[in-house]
Amino acid sequence: MNLNTITEVKRPTSADQVTQWRDGYAWLAGGTWLFSEPQIATDTLIDLETMEWPALQTSGTGLEIAATCRIAELYRLAESAEWRAAALIRESCNAFLASFKIWNAATVGGNICMSLPAGPMISLTVALEATYTLWPRDAAPRQVRAVDFVTGNHANVLRPGELLRSIHVPAAALRKRFAFRRASLTKLGRSAALIIGTRSETASDLLITITAATPRPIQLGFDRAPSATELRRAIDRQIPADGYFNDVHGSAAYKHHLTYHFCEQIRAELASEGTGR
Ligand SMILES: Cc1cc2nc3c(=O)[nH]c(=O)nc-3n(C[C@H](O)[C@H](O)[C@H](O)COP(=O)(O)OP(=O)(O)OC[C@H]3O[C@@H](n4cnc5c(N)ncnc54)[C@H](O)[C@@H]3O)c2cc1C
Repeated sequence: MNLNTITEVKRPTSADQVTQWRDGYAWLAGGTWLFSEPQIATDTLIDLETMEWPALQTSGTGLEIAATCRIAELYRLAESAEWRAAALIRESCNAFLASFKIWNAATVGGNICMSLPAGPMISLTVALEATYTLWPRDAAPRQVRAVDFVTGNHANVLRPGELLRSIHVPAAALRKRFAFRRASLTKLGRSAALIIGTRSETASDLLITITAATPRPIQLGFDRAPSATELRRAIDRQIPADGYFNDVHGSAAYKHHLTYHFCEQIRAELASEGTGR
């Protein structure tokens, strides 16, 4: 839609060119949310595309994803035998309530900064133990663990004008085995629950990341495979009965049920040697 409150679009080639920040400014990534509803409090868009950050860089330490990397670019990242959990990338891209047209415009960083419960790039990067690099306007860059970034529905730790620059996914997490579960009330609909488990190849640890069912990601970590009872107790300790997200994509009670059900499936799948992916 046309945003008739916008009077200026800035196209900086470096974030340093944006020295001042005031109410009315907004970073523009793919624009798939910004242009989907009136932005009456915004008069200036600052386009991130002209920064020309390389979308994806792989190295021995892992995967560096620019905030401006498009969903379609991430989806095309070749799967590798060494990085078993890289297969989660495609699973998570497919979890968007969106067609290829949105994938070609929407960015990984835009999805994370939207901080919606059903943001699949949040699920992916939290499950893969990523760290985000943030660029404040008037201070040194800082790093935040993905699991600590989203604080609630459409809420996060970004300060005014602060930019999400990149996402680092460590190689150790990419090498893990994983199990993925997702449910949606409608075909290709927004996730009611998206839950990912990972486990090291040589140990019996377990990391379960619960998203969409709760307003922000919840992570349960175990040094050794838990029993079904231990897992259920851990879920209840971390998520109070009224801590599930109630919206048109599923009632809180339904999401509570899915969380128990999928977590137990993931526990069982990853507990056995050699099964799971
Ligand atoms: C048909 C359709 C389906 C959708 N399905 C889903 C879905 O299933 N799940 C979901 O979560 N969302 C969904 N969305 C919402 C939205 O499209 C996605 O969240 C998308 O990934 C946002 O990315 P973008 O690059 O287009 O962000 P933009 O619309 O450009 O920006 C979104 C917000 O993030 C801020 N921002 C963007 N990049 C940065 C950055 N690097 N640093 C700081 N702030 C930044 C912007 O200022 C803005 O406030 C959908 C939208 C449509 C139209």
